[in-house]
Amino acid sequence: MDSQGKKMLESAQALITKTAEKMQLDHEMIKRLIEPEFAHEFALTITMDTGKKKVFKGWRIQHNSALGPYKGGIRFHPETVREEVQALATLMSIKCAVAGLPYGGGKGGIIVDPKKLSKAELERLSRAFIGRIAHIIGEDVDVPAPDVNTTPEIMSWMIDEYQKIIGRKSAATITGKPIAVGGSLGRTAATGRGGLFVLLSLLTKLKKKAKGTTVAVQGFGNVGYYFAKLAREAGFKIVAVSDSKGGVYVKDGLSVDQTMECKKEKGMVAGCYCKGSVCDIKYGKTVTNKELLELPVDILVPAALENVINNENMVKIKAEIIVEMANGPLTKEAYEYLVKKGKIIVPDVLANSGGVTVSYLEWVQNKAGYYWSEKEVNDKLKVMMEKAFEAIWKKSVEKKIPLKQAAFEVALKRIASAMV
Ligand code: NAD
Repeated sequence: MDSQGKKMLESAQALITKTAEKMQLDHEMIKRLIEPEFAHEFALTITMDTGKKKVFKGWRIQHNSALGPYKGGIRFHPETVREEVQALATLMSIKCAVAGLPYGGGKGGIIVDPKKLSKAELERLSRAFIGRIAHIIGEDVDVPAPDVNTTPEIMSWMIDEYQKIIGRKSAATITGKPIAVGGSLGRTAATGRGGLFVLLSLLTKLKKKAKGTTVAVQGFGNVGYYFAKLAREAGFKIVAVSDSKGGVYVKDGLSVDQTMECKKEKGMVAGCYCKGSVCDIKYGKTVTNKELLELPVDILVPAALENVINNENMVKIKAEIIVEMANGPLTKEAYEYLVKKGKIIVPDVLANSGGVTVSYLEWVQNKAGYYWSEKEVNDKLKVMMEKAFEAIWKKSVEKKIPLKQAAFEVALKRIASAMV
Protein backbone atom coordinates (compact mmCIF):
# COMPACT_ATOMS: atom_id res chain seq x y z
CA MET A 1 0.00 0.00 0.00
CA ASP A 2 2.89 2.25 0.78
CA SER A 3 4.00 2.09 -2.84
CA GLN A 4 0.41 2.29 -4.05
CA GLY A 5 -0.08 5.58 -2.19
CA LYS A 6 3.14 6.87 -3.72
CA LYS A 7 2.04 5.73 -7.17
CA MET A 8 -1.27 7.48 -6.75
CA LEU A 9 0.44 10.72 -5.76
CA GLU A 10 2.97 10.49 -8.59
CA SER A 11 0.25 9.90 -11.14
CA ALA A 12 -1.90 12.82 -9.89
CA GLN A 13 1.12 15.11 -9.94
CA ALA A 14 2.25 13.85 -13.37
CA LEU A 15 -1.20 14.54 -14.81
CA ILE A 16 -1.20 18.08 -13.41
CA THR A 17 2.33 18.74 -14.68
CA LYS A 18 1.58 17.40 -18.16
CA THR A 19 -1.64 19.39 -18.46
CA ALA A 20 -0.07 22.56 -17.06
CA GLU A 21 2.88 22.30 -19.47
CA LYS A 22 0.48 21.95 -22.40
CA MET A 23 -1.27 25.07 -21.12
CA GLN A 24 2.13 26.77 -21.03
CA LEU A 25 1.94 27.63 -17.34
CA ASP A 26 5.34 28.62 -15.97
CA HIS A 27 7.49 26.38 -13.84
CA GLU A 28 6.80 28.14 -10.52
CA MET A 29 3.05 28.07 -11.14
CA ILE A 30 3.23 24.32 -11.79
CA LYS A 31 5.10 23.90 -8.51
CA ARG A 32 2.39 25.86 -6.71
CA LEU A 33 -0.26 23.64 -8.28
CA ILE A 34 1.50 20.52 -7.09
CA GLU A 35 2.79 21.24 -3.59
CA PRO A 36 0.24 21.19 -0.76
CA GLU A 37 -0.06 24.48 1.12
CA PHE A 38 -0.06 22.63 4.47
CA ALA A 39 0.51 19.02 5.47
CA HIS A 40 -0.40 18.42 9.11
CA GLU A 41 0.79 15.15 10.61
CA PHE A 42 0.01 14.13 14.16
CA ALA A 43 -0.29 11.40 16.75
CA LEU A 44 -3.63 10.85 18.48
CA THR A 45 -3.89 9.14 21.83
CA ILE A 46 -7.13 7.68 23.14
CA THR A 47 -8.02 5.50 26.08
CA MET A 48 -9.23 2.09 24.91
CA ASP A 49 -12.07 0.22 26.66
CA THR A 50 -9.44 -1.82 28.52
CA GLY A 51 -8.18 1.37 30.17
CA LYS A 52 -4.92 1.28 28.19
CA LYS A 53 -3.76 4.18 26.03
CA LYS A 54 -3.29 3.67 22.29
CA VAL A 55 -1.65 5.94 19.75
CA PHE A 56 -2.86 6.45 16.17
CA LYS A 57 -1.26 8.38 13.36
CA GLY A 58 -3.26 10.92 11.34
CA TRP A 59 -3.06 13.65 8.73
CA ARG A 60 -4.94 16.62 7.40
CA ILE A 61 -3.46 17.79 4.13
CA GLN A 62 -4.56 21.12 2.71
CA HIS A 63 -3.60 21.22 -0.91
CA ASN A 64 -4.81 24.45 -2.47
CA SER A 65 -7.12 27.23 -1.29
CA ALA A 66 -7.10 29.57 -4.30
CA LEU A 67 -10.80 29.03 -5.02
CA GLY A 68 -12.03 28.84 -1.43
CA PRO A 69 -11.78 26.85 1.83
CA TYR A 70 -10.16 23.41 1.61
CA LYS A 71 -12.79 20.71 1.14
CA GLY A 72 -12.42 16.96 1.44
CA GLY A 73 -13.21 13.85 3.44
CA ILE A 74 -11.56 12.05 6.32
CA ARG A 75 -10.80 8.35 5.85
CA PHE A 76 -10.23 5.74 8.54
CA HIS A 77 -8.23 2.92 6.99
CA PRO A 78 -5.55 0.52 8.24
CA GLU A 79 -3.44 0.99 5.12
CA THR A 80 -3.72 4.69 4.48
CA VAL A 81 -0.42 6.56 4.11
CA ARG A 82 0.58 10.19 3.87
CA GLU A 83 1.10 10.03 0.10
CA GLU A 84 -2.38 8.65 -0.43
CA VAL A 85 -3.94 11.42 1.66
CA GLN A 86 -1.92 14.01 -0.26
CA ALA A 87 -2.93 12.52 -3.63
CA LEU A 88 -6.59 12.62 -2.60
CA ALA A 89 -6.27 16.21 -1.37
CA THR A 90 -4.72 17.16 -4.73
CA LEU A 91 -7.53 15.47 -6.65
CA MET A 92 -10.11 17.26 -4.48
CA SER A 93 -8.67 20.60 -5.66
CA ILE A 94 -9.22 19.42 -9.24
CA LYS A 95 -12.69 17.96 -8.54
CA CYS A 96 -14.00 21.07 -6.76
CA ALA A 97 -12.72 23.27 -9.60
CA VAL A 98 -14.28 20.96 -12.22
CA ALA A 99 -17.60 21.11 -10.38
CA GLY A 100 -17.39 24.91 -10.26
CA LEU A 101 -17.43 25.03 -6.45
CA PRO A 102 -15.86 27.84 -4.40
CA TYR A 103 -13.52 25.37 -2.68
CA GLY A 104 -9.96 24.17 -2.72
CA GLY A 105 -8.89 20.62 -1.96
CA GLY A 106 -8.07 18.85 1.30
CA LYS A 107 -8.15 15.36 2.77
CA GLY A 108 -7.67 13.73 6.14
CA GLY A 109 -6.87 10.26 7.31
CA ILE A 110 -6.12 8.08 10.31
CA ILE A 111 -4.32 4.74 10.15
CA VAL A 112 -6.92 2.57 11.87
CA ASP A 113 -9.14 -0.41 11.18
CA PRO A 114 -12.44 0.91 12.54
CA LYS A 115 -13.88 -2.63 12.59
CA LYS A 116 -11.46 -3.42 15.40
CA LEU A 117 -12.71 -0.58 17.62
CA SER A 118 -15.79 -0.56 19.83
CA LYS A 119 -18.31 2.19 19.12
CA ALA A 120 -17.15 4.13 22.17
CA GLU A 121 -13.50 3.88 21.04
CA LEU A 122 -14.47 5.03 17.55
CA GLU A 123 -16.23 8.05 19.04
CA ARG A 124 -13.21 8.91 21.21
CA LEU A 125 -10.91 8.62 18.19
CA SER A 126 -13.17 10.83 16.03
CA ARG A 127 -13.31 13.46 18.80
CA ALA A 128 -9.53 13.25 19.32
CA PHE A 129 -8.98 13.85 15.61
CA ILE A 130 -11.04 17.05 15.81
CA GLY A 131 -9.06 18.02 18.90
CA ARG A 132 -5.92 17.92 16.73
CA ILE A 133 -7.32 19.84 13.76
CA ALA A 134 -9.80 22.25 15.39
CA HIS A 135 -7.40 25.19 15.02
CA ILE A 136 -6.85 24.57 11.30
CA ILE A 137 -10.45 23.95 10.15
CA GLY A 138 -13.54 26.16 10.08
CA GLU A 139 -16.40 27.01 7.75
CA ASP A 140 -14.26 29.50 5.82
CA VAL A 141 -10.96 27.66 6.29
CA ASP A 142 -11.27 23.92 5.78
CA VAL A 143 -14.48 21.88 5.62
CA PRO A 144 -14.09 18.12 6.25
CA ALA A 145 -16.62 15.42 5.27
CA PRO A 146 -16.98 11.61 5.29
CA ASP A 147 -14.80 9.33 3.17
CA VAL A 148 -13.90 5.62 3.33
CA ASN A 149 -15.21 4.12 6.62
CA THR A 150 -16.48 7.41 8.03
CA THR A 151 -20.23 7.90 8.36
CA PRO A 152 -22.78 10.66 9.05
CA GLU A 153 -22.76 9.51 12.69
CA ILE A 154 -19.00 10.06 12.89
CA MET A 155 -19.56 13.52 11.38
CA SER A 156 -22.11 14.25 14.13
CA TRP A 157 -19.48 13.43 16.83
CA MET A 158 -16.91 15.54 15.01
CA ILE A 159 -19.11 18.63 14.63
CA ASP A 160 -20.21 18.31 18.27
CA GLU A 161 -16.58 18.20 19.42
CA TYR A 162 -15.63 21.10 17.17
CA GLN A 163 -18.48 23.29 18.46
CA LYS A 164 -17.55 22.47 22.07
CA ILE A 165 -13.95 23.51 21.42
CA ILE A 166 -14.83 26.82 19.74
CA GLY A 167 -17.72 27.53 22.11
CA ARG A 168 -20.36 28.33 19.47
CA LYS A 169 -22.37 26.73 16.68
CA SER A 170 -20.71 26.29 13.30
CA ALA A 171 -22.58 23.53 11.49
CA ALA A 172 -21.03 24.54 8.13
CA THR A 173 -17.57 23.40 9.28
CA ILE A 174 -18.32 19.74 8.55
CA THR A 175 -20.60 18.33 5.82
CA GLY A 176 -22.11 14.89 5.38
CA LYS A 177 -23.88 15.26 8.73
CA PRO A 178 -27.15 13.55 9.67
CA ILE A 179 -30.23 15.66 8.80
CA ALA A 180 -30.97 16.26 12.52
CA VAL A 181 -27.71 18.21 12.98
CA GLY A 182 -27.83 20.18 9.74
CA GLY A 183 -27.23 17.64 6.97
CA SER A 184 -28.82 18.18 3.58
CA LEU A 185 -31.72 16.29 2.09
CA GLY A 186 -30.64 14.56 -1.11
CA ARG A 187 -27.06 13.90 0.01
CA THR A 188 -27.36 10.09 0.14
CA ALA A 189 -28.28 9.74 -3.54
CA ALA A 190 -26.28 12.76 -4.73
CA THR A 191 -23.24 11.03 -6.21
CA GLY A 192 -25.28 8.55 -8.25
CA ARG A 193 -27.77 11.23 -9.25
CA GLY A 194 -25.03 13.65 -10.29
CA GLY A 195 -23.40 10.94 -12.45
CA LEU A 196 -26.68 10.32 -14.18
CA PHE A 197 -27.13 14.03 -14.98
CA VAL A 198 -23.68 14.02 -16.57
CA LEU A 199 -24.44 10.89 -18.59
CA LEU A 200 -27.76 12.33 -19.84
CA SER A 201 -25.98 15.54 -20.91
CA LEU A 202 -23.39 13.47 -22.77
CA LEU A 203 -26.06 11.44 -24.59
CA THR A 204 -27.79 14.65 -25.67
CA LYS A 205 -24.52 15.83 -27.25
CA LEU A 206 -24.10 12.47 -28.95
CA LYS A 207 -27.74 12.61 -30.11
CA LYS A 208 -28.45 9.33 -28.36
CA LYS A 209 -31.41 8.36 -26.20
CA ALA A 210 -31.53 6.77 -22.76
CA LYS A 211 -34.44 4.52 -23.67
CA GLY A 212 -33.27 0.96 -24.22
CA THR A 213 -29.55 1.82 -23.87
CA THR A 214 -27.90 -1.06 -21.99
CA VAL A 215 -25.84 -0.43 -18.85
CA ALA A 216 -23.69 -2.64 -16.59
CA VAL A 217 -22.85 -1.31 -13.13
CA GLN A 218 -19.99 -2.72 -11.05
CA GLY A 219 -20.63 -2.09 -7.35
CA PHE A 220 -24.04 -2.00 -5.70
CA GLY A 221 -23.24 0.23 -2.73
CA ASN A 222 -24.23 3.85 -2.24
CA VAL A 223 -22.99 5.09 -5.60
CA GLY A 224 -23.77 2.05 -7.78
CA TYR A 225 -27.24 1.47 -6.34
CA TYR A 226 -28.50 5.02 -6.72
CA PHE A 227 -26.92 5.38 -10.14
CA ALA A 228 -28.60 2.14 -11.33
CA LYS A 229 -31.94 2.99 -9.73
CA LEU A 230 -32.16 6.50 -11.17
CA ALA A 231 -30.79 5.43 -14.57
CA ARG A 232 -33.50 2.80 -14.82
CA GLU A 233 -36.12 5.40 -13.93
CA ALA A 234 -34.69 7.55 -16.74
CA GLY A 235 -35.25 4.74 -19.27
CA PHE A 236 -31.89 2.95 -19.38
CA LYS A 237 -31.89 -0.83 -19.40
CA ILE A 238 -29.74 -1.98 -16.47
CA VAL A 239 -28.62 -5.46 -17.51
CA ALA A 240 -25.99 -6.20 -14.86
CA VAL A 241 -25.00 -5.20 -11.33
CA SER A 242 -22.50 -6.68 -8.90
CA ASP A 243 -21.06 -6.46 -5.41
CA SER A 244 -17.87 -7.88 -3.93
CA LYS A 245 -19.29 -11.42 -4.08
CA GLY A 246 -20.17 -11.35 -7.78
CA GLY A 247 -22.92 -10.14 -10.07
CA VAL A 248 -26.01 -10.91 -12.10
CA TYR A 249 -26.75 -10.49 -15.80
CA VAL A 250 -30.39 -10.11 -16.84
CA LYS A 251 -30.38 -9.55 -20.59
CA ASP A 252 -33.88 -8.02 -20.76
CA GLY A 253 -33.09 -5.53 -18.00
CA LEU A 254 -33.28 -6.05 -14.26
CA SER A 255 -35.41 -4.43 -11.60
CA VAL A 256 -32.99 -2.43 -9.44
CA ASP A 257 -35.13 -2.07 -6.33
CA GLN A 258 -36.19 -5.71 -6.36
CA THR A 259 -32.52 -6.71 -6.75
CA MET A 260 -31.64 -4.58 -3.72
CA GLU A 261 -34.44 -6.22 -1.69
CA CYS A 262 -33.12 -9.63 -2.72
CA LYS A 263 -29.52 -8.62 -1.87
CA LYS A 264 -30.66 -7.54 1.59
CA GLU A 265 -32.27 -10.96 2.14
CA LYS A 266 -29.42 -13.08 0.75
CA GLY A 267 -26.55 -10.83 1.74
CA MET A 268 -25.34 -10.67 -1.85
CA VAL A 269 -26.43 -9.76 -5.37
CA ALA A 270 -25.40 -13.09 -6.92
CA GLY A 271 -28.50 -15.25 -7.27
CA CYS A 272 -30.88 -12.27 -7.58
CA TYR A 273 -32.27 -12.39 -11.12
CA CYS A 274 -35.10 -9.90 -10.74
CA LYS A 275 -37.39 -8.73 -13.51
CA GLY A 276 -40.41 -6.63 -12.54
CA SER A 277 -41.39 -7.72 -9.06
CA VAL A 278 -40.29 -11.35 -9.49
CA CYS A 279 -36.85 -12.91 -9.04
CA ASP A 280 -36.30 -16.20 -10.86
CA ILE A 281 -33.26 -18.05 -12.20
CA LYS A 282 -34.88 -18.20 -15.65
CA TYR A 283 -34.43 -14.45 -16.09
CA GLY A 284 -30.68 -14.31 -15.93
CA LYS A 285 -27.34 -15.75 -14.97
CA THR A 286 -24.55 -15.17 -12.52
CA VAL A 287 -21.44 -13.31 -13.70
CA THR A 288 -18.14 -12.66 -11.99
CA ASN A 289 -16.96 -9.09 -11.53
CA LYS A 290 -14.43 -9.73 -14.29
CA GLU A 291 -17.14 -10.94 -16.70
CA LEU A 292 -19.39 -8.01 -15.87
CA LEU A 293 -16.78 -5.55 -17.13
CA GLU A 294 -16.52 -7.41 -20.44
CA LEU A 295 -20.28 -7.67 -21.18
CA PRO A 296 -21.63 -6.49 -24.55
CA VAL A 297 -23.29 -3.31 -23.21
CA ASP A 298 -23.51 0.27 -24.45
CA ILE A 299 -22.39 1.82 -21.16
CA LEU A 300 -20.11 0.50 -18.45
CA VAL A 301 -20.20 2.05 -14.98
CA PRO A 302 -17.41 1.00 -12.60
CA ALA A 303 -18.73 2.16 -9.21
CA ALA A 304 -16.70 0.11 -6.73
CA LEU A 305 -12.92 0.03 -6.68
CA GLU A 306 -9.89 1.59 -8.33
CA ASN A 307 -7.82 -0.03 -11.14
CA VAL A 308 -10.47 -2.61 -12.11
CA ILE A 309 -9.97 -1.89 -15.81
CA ASN A 310 -6.33 -2.59 -16.50
CA ASN A 311 -3.92 -4.18 -18.98
CA GLU A 312 -5.39 -7.61 -18.30
CA ASN A 313 -8.93 -6.82 -19.47
CA MET A 314 -8.71 -3.57 -21.48
CA VAL A 315 -8.83 -5.30 -24.87
CA LYS A 316 -12.03 -7.09 -23.86
CA ILE A 317 -14.04 -3.99 -22.92
CA LYS A 318 -16.95 -3.71 -25.34
CA ALA A 319 -18.86 -0.69 -23.99
CA GLU A 320 -18.47 2.49 -26.03
CA ILE A 321 -18.99 4.76 -23.03
CA ILE A 322 -17.38 4.30 -19.59
CA VAL A 323 -18.61 6.43 -16.69
CA GLU A 324 -16.02 6.51 -13.89
CA MET A 325 -18.29 6.63 -10.82
CA ALA A 326 -15.58 5.08 -8.60
CA ASN A 327 -12.38 7.02 -8.06
CA GLY A 328 -9.65 5.90 -10.48
CA PRO A 329 -11.26 2.69 -11.86
CA LEU A 330 -9.02 2.71 -14.96
CA THR A 331 -5.25 2.34 -14.84
CA LYS A 332 -3.23 4.84 -16.87
CA GLU A 333 -2.41 2.18 -19.45
CA ALA A 334 -6.03 1.06 -19.84
CA TYR A 335 -7.19 4.67 -20.06
CA GLU A 336 -4.75 5.45 -22.87
CA TYR A 337 -5.56 2.25 -24.74
CA LEU A 338 -9.33 2.77 -24.56
CA VAL A 339 -9.16 6.44 -25.53
CA LYS A 340 -7.11 5.43 -28.59
CA LYS A 341 -9.83 2.91 -29.41
CA GLY A 342 -12.30 5.81 -29.54
CA LYS A 343 -14.16 5.00 -26.32
CA ILE A 344 -15.70 7.92 -24.45
CA ILE A 345 -14.57 8.00 -20.83
CA VAL A 346 -16.38 10.32 -18.43
CA PRO A 347 -13.66 11.09 -15.85
CA ASP A 348 -14.18 10.53 -12.11
CA VAL A 349 -13.47 14.18 -11.25
CA LEU A 350 -16.61 15.07 -13.19
CA ALA A 351 -18.77 11.92 -13.00
CA ASN A 352 -18.72 11.50 -9.21
CA SER A 353 -18.62 15.18 -8.25
CA GLY A 354 -22.34 15.15 -7.35
CA GLY A 355 -21.43 14.15 -3.79
CA VAL A 356 -19.20 17.12 -3.12
CA THR A 357 -21.67 19.37 -4.94
CA VAL A 358 -24.44 18.49 -2.48
CA SER A 359 -21.90 18.86 0.36
CA TYR A 360 -21.48 22.40 -0.93
CA LEU A 361 -25.28 22.84 -0.89
CA GLU A 362 -25.28 21.58 2.73
CA TRP A 363 -22.62 24.18 3.60
CA VAL A 364 -24.63 26.96 1.91
CA GLN A 365 -27.78 25.94 3.84
CA ASN A 366 -25.85 25.83 7.15
CA LYS A 367 -24.32 29.24 6.53
CA ALA A 368 -27.69 30.74 5.60
CA GLY A 369 -29.67 28.91 8.30
CA TYR A 370 -32.27 28.22 5.61
CA TYR A 371 -33.09 24.71 4.44
CA TRP A 372 -34.27 23.45 1.03
CA SER A 373 -36.63 20.59 0.19
CA GLU A 374 -35.15 17.47 -1.40
CA LYS A 375 -36.56 18.56 -4.76
CA GLU A 376 -34.90 21.95 -4.46
CA VAL A 377 -31.56 20.30 -3.68
CA ASN A 378 -31.93 17.86 -6.60
CA ASP A 379 -32.89 20.67 -8.99
CA LYS A 380 -29.84 22.71 -7.95
CA LEU A 381 -27.62 19.65 -8.34
CA LYS A 382 -28.94 19.16 -11.89
CA VAL A 383 -28.18 22.74 -12.87
CA MET A 384 -24.66 22.56 -11.39
CA MET A 385 -23.77 19.18 -12.92
CA GLU A 386 -25.01 20.22 -16.35
CA LYS A 387 -23.01 23.44 -16.14
CA ALA A 388 -19.87 21.54 -15.10
CA PHE A 389 -20.33 19.07 -17.97
CA GLU A 390 -20.95 21.82 -20.52
CA ALA A 391 -17.65 23.61 -19.79
CA ILE A 392 -15.69 20.37 -20.10
CA TRP A 393 -17.49 19.21 -23.22
CA LYS A 394 -16.86 22.60 -24.85
CA LYS A 395 -13.13 22.44 -24.05
CA SER A 396 -12.97 18.86 -25.30
CA VAL A 397 -14.59 19.74 -28.64
CA GLU A 398 -12.64 22.99 -29.11
CA LYS A 399 -9.25 21.41 -28.48
CA LYS A 400 -10.14 17.92 -29.79
CA ILE A 401 -9.01 16.33 -26.52
CA PRO A 402 -10.58 13.60 -24.37
CA LEU A 403 -12.94 14.64 -21.55
CA LYS A 404 -10.40 13.83 -18.82
CA GLN A 405 -7.74 16.10 -20.28
CA ALA A 406 -10.39 18.77 -20.83
CA ALA A 407 -11.51 18.45 -17.19
CA PHE A 408 -7.94 18.93 -15.91
CA GLU A 409 -7.42 21.93 -18.22
CA VAL A 410 -10.65 23.58 -17.09
CA ALA A 411 -9.78 22.95 -13.43
CA LEU A 412 -6.17 24.13 -13.64
CA LYS A 413 -7.18 27.26 -15.52
CA ARG A 414 -9.76 28.09 -12.84
CA ILE A 415 -7.29 27.46 -10.01
CA ALA A 416 -4.30 29.19 -11.63
CA SER A 417 -6.29 32.30 -12.50
CA ALA A 418 -7.33 32.63 -8.84
CA MET A 419 -3.70 32.35 -7.63
CA VAL A 420 -2.37 35.85 -7.44
P1 NAD B 1 -19.89 1.52 -0.76
O1 NAD B 1 -19.01 0.93 0.25
O2 NAD B 1 -21.25 1.99 -0.40
O3 NAD B 1 -20.10 0.46 -1.96
C1 NAD B 1 -19.05 -0.20 -2.59
C2 NAD B 1 -19.62 -1.34 -3.43
O4 NAD B 1 -18.55 -1.97 -4.12
C3 NAD B 1 -20.31 -2.43 -2.60
O5 NAD B 1 -21.45 -2.87 -3.30
C4 NAD B 1 -19.26 -3.53 -2.56
O6 NAD B 1 -19.83 -4.82 -2.41
C5 NAD B 1 -18.65 -3.37 -3.92
N1 NAD B 1 -17.35 -4.01 -4.03
C6 NAD B 1 -16.36 -4.10 -3.10
N2 NAD B 1 -15.35 -4.83 -3.57
C7 NAD B 1 -15.69 -5.18 -4.83
C8 NAD B 1 -15.07 -5.94 -5.84
N3 NAD B 1 -13.89 -6.52 -5.63
N4 NAD B 1 -15.70 -6.07 -7.02
C9 NAD B 1 -16.91 -5.50 -7.22
N5 NAD B 1 -17.55 -4.78 -6.31
C10 NAD B 1 -16.95 -4.64 -5.14
O7 NAD B 1 -19.02 2.68 -1.46
P2 NAD B 1 -19.54 3.90 -2.33
O8 NAD B 1 -19.76 5.06 -1.44
O9 NAD B 1 -20.64 3.44 -3.22
O10 NAD B 1 -18.25 4.23 -3.19
C11 NAD B 1 -17.91 3.53 -4.37
C12 NAD B 1 -16.84 4.30 -5.13
O11 NAD B 1 -17.30 5.62 -5.42
C13 NAD B 1 -15.51 4.49 -4.40
O12 NAD B 1 -14.46 4.50 -5.36
C14 NAD B 1 -15.66 5.87 -3.80
O13 NAD B 1 -14.40 6.47 -3.53
C15 NAD B 1 -16.38 6.57 -4.92
N6 NAD B 1 -17.06 7.80 -4.52
C16 NAD B 1 -18.08 7.76 -3.59
C17 NAD B 1 -18.75 8.93 -3.27
C18 NAD B 1 -19.92 8.93 -2.31
O14 NAD B 1 -20.58 9.96 -2.18
N7 NAD B 1 -20.25 7.81 -1.69
C19 NAD B 1 -18.37 10.15 -3.85
C20 NAD B 1 -17.34 10.16 -4.78
C21 NAD B 1 -16.71 8.97 -5.10
